[in-house]
This record gives sequence, C-alpha cells and structure tokens, in this order.
Amino acid sequence: MSRRIYLDHNSTTPERDEARRRRRELEELALGNPSSLHSAGRRARAIVDDARAQVAAALGAHEEEIFFTSGATEANNLALFGVLEARGVGAGVVTSAVEHASVLEAARRLATRGHPLALAPVDGEGLVRLDALLELCAQPAVALVSVAAANNETGAAPDLAALTSGLRGRGGKAPLVHTDGVQALGRIPLRLKDLGVDLASFSGHKLGAGMGAGVLWKRRGIALEPRCFGGGQELDLRPGTENVPAIAALAVALELAVREQAEHAARCAALTQRLWQGLVARIPGVRLVGPALDSPRRIPNTLCVLFPGTDGKVLVTRLDLAGLEVSAGSACASGALEPSHVLLALGLARDEARSALRLSLGRNTSEEDCKRALAVFHEEFSSSHAT
Ligand code: PMP
Repeated sequence: MSRRIYLDHNSTTPERDEARRRRRELEELALGNPSSLHSAGRRARAIVDDARAQVAAALGAHEEEIFFTSGATEANNLALFGVLEARGVGAGVVTSAVEHASVLEAARRLATRGHPLALAPVDGEGLVRLDALLELCAQPAVALVSVAAANNETGAAPDLAALTSGLRGRGGKAPLVHTDGVQALGRIPLRLKDLGVDLASFSGHKLGAGMGAGVLWKRRGIALEPRCFGGGQELDLRPGTENVPAIAALAVALELAVREQAEHAARCAALTQRLWQGLVARIPGVRLVGPALDSPRRIPNTLCVLFPGTDGKVLVTRLDLAGLEVSAGSACASGALEPSHVLLALGLARDEARSALRLSLGRNTSEEDCKRALAVFHEEFSSSHAT
C-alpha cells in the first residue's frame, strides 16, 4: 500500500525527532518526583526548571510566567476560570463566536455561575469584528477578553495588537486579554510583548512535541484562582506531579517552532497555494472559507474549503479509504451532527457549512503529498460524487 497522506496537522502533528529523542532519553532515566528532595527528584526538578527557562526564552517571557499544564484545553480553562473566579461573581467575559470549545464551553459554564458572557461576531472571513468587540468591552464589569490568535478551522488570524491597543486606548480600566495561541505559534510571528496580551495558551502536541503537556503564559502580577488544589506545584496554580518527559519534549518543540517559524510559513504558504489552485482546476464550484490566501490575517498552513453538494463527513470517510486523511471542521467536534459553530458564525447556511473540509499542512508535508492529495480528490470527484 502506498504511504498515506496526512493533511490534518491542526488536529495534531507527528512528534518531531528532536522532541522524541528528548522524551525517550528521559523515559530511560530513573527520574524521581520533581518534588522529592533526593538526587533522583532533584534531577527531575532540574529538567522541569530547564524546560521552563527554554519556553520562557522562546516566548520572550519570564520563567515565573510559565505554567505547565496537560495541554491547551486545561490552559484555556485555567485562564478563564482563573481570572474570573479571582475577580469574583459579577466579573464578565467577552469572547468570540468562533473560539475553540475549550474557551467557549468554559465561558458558558462561567456564565451559569454569575459571570456575564458576551460573544463578539465575526466578519465573512471569520475575523473577529473589533468594533463590535470593543463595544461589548465598554461594560465596566468585563474583566477578561479571550480571542484566539488563529482559528483552527478557518485559519483566520485577527489583529490582536489592534485589539489590545483599542482596549487600552479607551481610557479607564481595560480588561485583561487572553489568547488561545495553539494554532498560531510557529506559523505566524507571535511576540507576546508586541501583541499586548496578558495570558496565552499553547499545546505541545500541535507543535510536534507529542501529547501530554501544554503551557499557560501569564504576565507577572496577574492573580488567578487555581482550578485544582493539592501539592503546590507550578506556584500553587496547577498542582499535581509534573509530566516531566512531556514537558521537556514540549520545550524542545516549542523552541524549534519559534526559531523555524518564518521558513515553515513560507513553505506552507507555497504548498497551500498550489493545493488550492489544484482544487480549483479539478473541482467545479469549490469555495475557500476564511481570509484570502495572500492575506496577512491567516495562518499559512490551513485551507478550509467548501465542496458544494457534498457532506464533509461522508467525504472525509471516502477520502480516508483512498489514503488521504483530512478533517471536516474541528476534530474535537467531529462526532457532532451539528455543522461547525465556526462556519455558521461566518454566516454560512447549514448545508454550506456541512460541505466543508479542512486541509492543514505540517512540517513533514511535501510537494509530493500535495500532488497525491490532488490526485485523490480528482479521482473522487470524477467518479462517484460524494453526497
Ligand atoms: N485551542 C485550539 C485552537 C485548538 O485547536 C485545540 C486543539 N484542537 C485546543 C485549544 C485544545 O488543545 P489540547 O488538545 O492541547 O487540549
């Protein structure tokens, strides 16, 4: 059987060799619990400390601003619950209609506990409407704004620097700003200081670190209420024994992702362009969702495409049988019968939203992969038409 083609890197991307080597090297060692005082424990503590320093340096942050979690779902929940519970009942949150479930569902849960929630709309490209967002933030009770640096389904990357300077330019007390940076890191420049945000979440397995660790970055001095209580790890904010190999692998992958960002983005942009042109040439009526391919307001590895008259989930299964792995919207929601909330928020009709596929490229995606993917699409659409 020929090699399968994997174009679903926004769901997860294969562990890169450097991260795997680091993880395996640590798994081979008899590491202690980082909280233990003996040598094995101190060795483990030193590995976590080194990883924290490595992540902080790569993000341009301070070490005491980095908190390791199990992944970005936990980091997003910690950011939202942490800020709002620290501020107390009545403190509100503004986020957007296209956020990942780990932000939206956390915000909805908080709303049932006395934290008013408002959702900012997006424009036809999936970019959060800054005017509407700023208006919602005019309510004095708003304590936190959460807007992703890039959307996992459409690839739309709103102008966060404009958002934070808009918020602070209004005078009065500005709310804190959190960003879910999962899909942006390593794909577009992401300098926390320039963005002016206060908290940001990242996920190791989206960066090639394998699964098991994530990061919450929190600017110094911001008070967060923990979600868990226990042994005092991570400055009491995220207690629990650290996943040392996963944390070390994350640090390796995150540093490389930041260092290689420009080169990776250029490669992805060229391949995505070719893939899109190939689809247009082979399949009548396909439509691109999200910002134009040459727009600076998108991540370069993601193509969200409508295949009118098809059902994206059926198409995913048929393409899978032909050796091509893609996704219909977000993997987290792929069991759901409802069309994607992100695509509906862009104003697409339900049938249009159901006809969407997301193709997302990664570090190991080659020109040959794109050529073969196009051949699979050609075959699929020239023989039986998926319905
Ligand atoms: N935010 C975004 C934008 C994501 O794409 C994902 C993963 N689908 C998450 C958060 C959750 O990350 P994790 O899998 O690390 O919990």
